[in-house]
Amino acid sequence: MALVSSIKLSDEEKLAILQRLDQFRHWHSLDEKRYCLVCGEIITGREIHVIMGTRGNRSMRIICPTKYCDAMPIEWVWPTDDLLIKIAMVEVERNWLCLIMRVGRAMQSYGRKTTSGTISRTRAKPPLGQRQHAED
Ligand SMILES: [Zn+2]
Repeated sequence: MALVSSIKLSDEEKLAILQRLDQFRHWHSLDEKRYCLVCGEIITGREIHVIMGTRGNRSMRIICPTKYCDAMPIEWVWPTDDLLIKIAMVEVERNWLCLIMRVGRAMQSYGRKTTSGTISRTRAKPPLGQRQHAED
């Protein structure tokens, strides 16, 4: 959220505003979803923030509801199947990475126990660190 506070609106009013201000993709209901290209979140029309313009021109703006993201309608795309699959793949990859790291750690402790005296050919990589919630 930006510096301005969002405005309270009825569902009808909000939908009308979305339809007026989003010139790129038509809104049929507040329950429709969009994928924000900037923050990578799925957002609904209901969640989108309606704010007043800051330059005294009293024009309304709609921005992404995600914290620290003020993406505009042009950056909101329809969450198509392709896109949802891509998002799911990223999740799977992330889980895989966790699994691989866990297995790697287990192998290291196993190796230490059994291969004492021999020179290890695999150099231990520095830990990747916790990359979770990097976007927060
Ligand atoms: Zn966003």
